[in-house]
Amino acid sequence: MCRNGAGGVKEEKLQCFICNHQDSSGIALLNAFICNRCERKIANTNPNHIKYNLFKEKIKLLWAKGLQL
Ligand SMILES: [Zn+2]
Repeated sequence: MCRNGAGGVKEEKLQCFICNHQDSSGIALLNAFICNRCERKIANTNPNHIKYNLFKEKIKLLWAKGLQL
């Protein structure tokens, strides 16, 4: 039987710190959350691609944020 109602197990949606999209699946990096799509994007981004630098900057900010805590 499938129980479906308030108070049941619900998937927590977290906000992706890269795209700000709310998703329940992804990875948690330090105190931030990266959704599946962005995680894949990062993994598939060619290091020579300009977007890679954007992600890198974001990650750097994230690490800096984490180190402050
Ligand atoms: Zn995202």
